[in-house]
Amino acid sequence: MTNSQLARSDVPSLIEIAGVTKRYRRGIEELLVLDNLSLSITEGEFIALMGPSGSGKTTLLNLIAGIDTPDLGSVLVGNADLGTMGEGELARWRARNIGFVFQFYNLLPVLSAIENVALPLSLFGISKKERLTRAEFALEIVGLKDRAEHFPSQLSGGQEQRVAIARAIVTDPKIIVADEPTGDLDRNSAKEIMEILTRLNREFKKTIIMVTHDQVIAEYATRKVLLDKGQLTVG
Ligand code: ADP
Ligand code: MG
Repeated sequence: MTNSQLARSDVPSLIEIAGVTKRYRRGIEELLVLDNLSLSITEGEFIALMGPSGSGKTTLLNLIAGIDTPDLGSVLVGNADLGTMGEGELARWRARNIGFVFQFYNLLPVLSAIENVALPLSLFGISKKERLTRAEFALEIVGLKDRAEHFPSQLSGGQEQRVAIARAIVTDPKIIVADEPTGDLDRNSAKEIMEILTRLNREFKKTIIMVTHDQVIAEYATRKVLLDKGQLTVG
């Protein structure tokens, strides 16, 4: 692999990860998870991040999303240098710029679908009516407007994940990070999820970074990268 395949210096990047090192300490053992890793992601890309279990895929997503910070190196997203931001500033930045999709949906069981979707908007000081209007639109995009009043326990796994995607896009973030979004779903539900993510990428111009183990799922992405032994290669 050449550097230019990971660096794409001809196009200005939205996400610029440069020389990032991340270690975890377990007792006296030190685990080098990301080893001087660099990656540029251009606005509008849909990245499939692959690699063995424990290779640091979630760690890398967390750095991009500003949930975690590197030991060395820098993570630039748009105009923000995440390494220089304090906790509160980072939390506000995250709420505006990143939508999260998890393997196990992470919906709140005591809230209805529309209440789950509206939740991220509660940080923005807009009226309840406006929050519900936006949440309804997000549910419409994922094809679940008719399930707005259902609770998570009344939905299938695929429907729960669609609600979770609606929650991820309700604030209209530029970037969606998805950690094995189809990992717990059957083929058909997985295909529906991937069709929604593809539409969000193509039509709504979301930049997507998605972790997956599945080669078939990875085919939906515009670029595959493989993380192994702390380093990236082209997948
Ligand atoms: P992946 O998502 O590719 O399966 P992770 O990023 O979750 O990998 O983890 C990479 C490695 O770092 C694993 O060996 C994991 O056990 C370790 N790790 C992850 N988070 C922590 C943590 N908070 N403390 C200690 N070790 C961690
Ligand atoms: Mg993981």
